[in-house]
Amino acid sequence: MTEVVAKTDFKIKPLIPVTQALENLLADAKTDLLVEQVDLKSALGRTLAERPIALVDVPPQDNSSMDGYAVAMISLNAQGSTILPLSQRIAAGDDPQPLAAGTVARIFTGAEIPLGADAVIMQEQVSVDQAGVHLPDSINDRQNIRPRGQDLLSGEILQPVGKKLQAADIGVLASAGIANVSVYRALKIAILSTGDELLEPGDPVAPGKIYNSNRAMLTALIQQLGMQVVDIGKVADTFAATRQALAKAADCADLIISTGGVSVGEEDHIKAAVDSLGALDMWRIKLKPGKPLAYGRVKGTPIFGLPGNPASALITFCLFARPYMTKLQGGLVVKPLSFKVIAAFEHLKAGSREEYLRAIYNDGEVQPFKNQSSGMLSTASRANGLIVIPVDAVIQRGELVDFIPFSELLA
Ligand code: AMP
Ligand code: MG
Repeated sequence: MTEVVAKTDFKIKPLIPVTQALENLLADAKTDLLVEQVDLKSALGRTLAERPIALVDVPPQDNSSMDGYAVAMISLNAQGSTILPLSQRIAAGDDPQPLAAGTVARIFTGAEIPLGADAVIMQEQVSVDQAGVHLPDSINDRQNIRPRGQDLLSGEILQPVGKKLQAADIGVLASAGIANVSVYRALKIAILSTGDELLEPGDPVAPGKIYNSNRAMLTALIQQLGMQVVDIGKVADTFAATRQALAKAADCADLIISTGGVSVGEEDHIKAAVDSLGALDMWRIKLKPGKPLAYGRVKGTPIFGLPGNPASALITFCLFARPYMTKLQGGLVVKPLSFKVIAAFEHLKAGSREEYLRAIYNDGEVQPFKNQSSGMLSTASRANGLIVIPVDAVIQRGELVDFIPFSELLA
């Protein structure tokens, strides 16, 4: 077998603007997806492969929104209060009798409205004595009645294909009588951490070493997307080891995510290994932090080579890998919401890359952490979102800046 030689002359091309990079990546995100049925207990975070249809009206019958008394409008005096006898008691879950003419029914929240009744009077407005039930005047037709089908109609489409199911979605499915949904089989994402300096948490501290934070973080990020992690483990900083690990990952996953080894140093082997097993399609983004992000294919399987610095790995994952994975999973890609908020800081040195600052938004204004080192992950954990500083922008204190809450990027 001839030995494969690592390519070393990767041309330093102009950096790719963030929006352009995302557009290119999304255009390349395609795979064949299988469909499976899951019950609602296992549906959280999964992506719908078929539109679920309501099996019943919700609520399924007119019901009372109050504890009180059900009455027919026709039994009420035209002017003033009305006294009527009580004919039945209807609790939630009961199957009521039609309301006897000229009577009222005691009724409780969620109980079905009896046939013939068309208003419910809350119990606080009613008094009861030997003469009967005293009802106030000015009662409105249909008051305190939640009509059948107010929320959903039988046959209504509940969610679109591609919806990633969240708690409220699952509640809605349950309300409409649906027990199982068709979802896309969860993608398998292979992760690998390059770096001879990496120790795993639990290992004893050792000279020259650092604990592997990216592995645990990526595992969590992938799980949050409802996908399966295939952990290829730690990879030594050699061309041969990197190549071997990538080939293995390509055989068992729909997508590979590596960290580290994408810069220009002699110890960075991801680009050459990808190139030797497929193609390096994209490298280096006009982004801070996260410039060295690489993307390509290994034996046909897509790979994101995230930078090794943990804050860069997190931000490139959020900006690029996450929407890409959502699309690959058959999901609808939604741009993260950002908000214009007041800058409690100034940024006077215009940068040539789009910058994402870990920051805390509080009480109407946003303040970035002073130290934005890409090696610092603690600030990403303490921040509640990212400030976006456009290329060439200068920001004065009190100006409006774009802020993306982490809830938009990490769920
Ligand atoms: P690299 O991209 O391989 O040059 O790594 C850049 C920096 O990130 C170096 O300081 C590495 O030690 C650090 N680094 C790389 N991978 C990890 C990791 N998995 N966990 C923590 N730090 C890392
Ligand atoms: Mg390295």
